[in-house]
Amino acid sequence: MKELKEIVTIDGPAGSGKSTAAFLVARELDAVLLDTGAIYRCVALVAAERGVSNEDAHALAEMARTLEISFQNDLSELGGRSTGRVFVDGIDVSEKIRTPRVSSDASKISAYPEVRAELLQLQRKQAWKEGDKSLIVAEGRDMGTVVFPDAPHKFFLVADAETRAERRYKELVEKGSDVSYAQVLEDQKERDRRDEQRQASPLRPAEDACIVDTTKMGLSEVVEGILKQISNNRKKRNVGRTKR
Ligand code: C5P
Repeated sequence: MKELKEIVTIDGPAGSGKSTAAFLVARELDAVLLDTGAIYRCVALVAAERGVSNEDAHALAEMARTLEISFQNDLSELGGRSTGRVFVDGIDVSEKIRTPRVSSDASKISAYPEVRAELLQLQRKQAWKEGDKSLIVAEGRDMGTVVFPDAPHKFFLVADAETRAERRYKELVEKGSDVSYAQVLEDQKERDRRDEQRQASPLRPAEDACIVDTTKMGLSEVVEGILKQISNNRKKRNVGRTKR
């Protein structure tokens, strides 16, 4: 039988700060980090490279089934980086999957139930891959609602649309990308709309998620708040156990 793992889910829209917060929480707690947006991005990237149409849900799902996606999970080795390294069939695609084109394609293909069903299995398997770690920090859009509905620690990060777009804009400019703020905001609105309105696993908080509005919060405040809540949840669960 599989060892029981403790799961922390961090969901939210683009730019809410969930990726960096998840990375720092995972590093602090020596957990496995499961960046599920990166998985959708890998499928979008390879589809574009192989000429598989964004509109062919069946072909995309078939392709997703055969991809070997892996992560560099020793987060302590990543120095100043705030995202882990991602590999497809052994090739490092960490930078390639972060372009605006891949963001938009990933958002389109993630609306297909066939693709989501295929990736659901992959995400759960991936979480159990790192055999020796008992804690998993899973980050995405539907971690708390669909992929790990029984997780004991659930967070949903939100922030104003303009604040989120500003964060993303700064990130892209730092990477040398030639984009305008207006374009970033427009793309983000489009992705939000698709993520929130799709039939399959739309973006929404789980009923038992702790909602964190990061608009006016610094990153360290967000991370400390999450760590504190995890610690409180653990205390409550232990009290519950001893009472029984
Ligand atoms: O989080 P990130 O921006 O890397 O995700 C890329 C895209 O993948 C999102 O716009 C979203 O449409 C999709 N996604 C998803 N479900 C997840 C993670 C990401 O639909 N669990």
